[in-house]
Amino acid sequence: MRRLFIAGNWKMNLKLDSAIALAKGLKEAAADVSEVDIAVCPPSLYVQPVGTVLAGSNIGLGAQNGYFEKAGAFTGELEMAMLTDVGCKYVILGHSERRHILGESSEDVNLKVHAALQAGLIPIVCVGEKLNERDNGVTNLVNQRQFDGSFSAVSAEDMKKCVIAYEPVWAIGTGKVATPEQAEEVHAFLRDLVAKRYGQDVADVVRIQYGGSVKADNAKELLSKPDIDGALVGGASLKVDAFMGIINAVR
Ligand code: PEP
Repeated sequence: MRRLFIAGNWKMNLKLDSAIALAKGLKEAAADVSEVDIAVCPPSLYVQPVGTVLAGSNIGLGAQNGYFEKAGAFTGELEMAMLTDVGCKYVILGHSERRHILGESSEDVNLKVHAALQAGLIPIVCVGEKLNERDNGVTNLVNQRQFDGSFSAVSAEDMKKCVIAYEPVWAIGTGKVATPEQAEEVHAFLRDLVAKRYGQDVADVVRIQYGGSVKADNAKELLSKPDIDGALVGGASLKVDAFMGIINAVR
């Protein structure tokens, strides 16, 4: 049985005061949630102060990115071990904004997945097709390429620790949500890829989140699908009520 996992991706939003206030509000509001795993991924600079607020709570801490190299001359980057050092449990890798705005390839994502696992982080690895790719009938092909590239040479034991986030690019921050059927079709396809490569026992434990304009009013229907194990939430993770609305809808 896979536990639902709701993670908030705060992206490049909030300032220190509002990040702390959001963390305090969530800590209080989610105190009695035990049925669902929860995490928030603040901007890197705010990971540590937010982690201090969340200490002892049921909300896990994540980063939005990390670098694959070990400590050294890599100006502007953060080593994965630095993320664990300040309390991170998760790291989002291969978000579509990093793939399509910042030019990250699946090969880059793969190096980061290995580095994250080595540092003891749980990678939340995003895959997803653009609208023109869906329109051209290559949704599965795109997701398979990103899956294969991002998880290359990851062992079965490590794969069990990873989280996949299916995030159709056309649904991120657009208010256009995939229908539960559209999302489930890709989730089932991804789970099948895991099963073909690693066996059904691994596929049965890997959690696959959906991301793309998830809100309190669409979360329950999406997450009631058999292969949708949670949500990666952008916009609606920036307010206590909106994020708690999603969590409470699926508990
Ligand atoms: C995301 O950033 O991963 C995301 C899904 O954003 P939103 O919920 O705003 O569409």
